[in-house]
Amino acid sequence: MGIDVQERRCPVCGREFVPTSQWVYRDRVAWFCTYGCMRQAEMRREKLLKGKRRMQRRLTPKEVDRVLSLIRKGVAIQEIMVDAGVTESAVRYYIKKIARAEG
Ligand SMILES: [Zn+2]
Repeated sequence: MGIDVQERRCPVCGREFVPTSQWVYRDRVAWFCTYGCMRQAEMRREKLLKGKRRMQRRLTPKEVDRVLSLIRKGVAIQEIMVDAGVTESAVRYYIKKIARAEG
């Protein structure tokens, strides 16, 4: 792998950027264009973790739309989780659903 110089898309605002090898606006799941975007993602994830205790809640129609459009764009599952604030199983559920409908 080594140093990764590829262009990345910020999962929060969608802006494309080329991170340097010293890039600090990143976490275990994604890279962000700015500190502000990284914080936003963190806050969404905190909310998500709290929500996990409520088991598999139903997604709102708005969340479903968001998840579906991100899946169709080919966004990585973990980025969809952060972006839409949903669980991995929810993302996987809709990936299957799309595959069934379009495949
Ligand atoms: Zn951003």
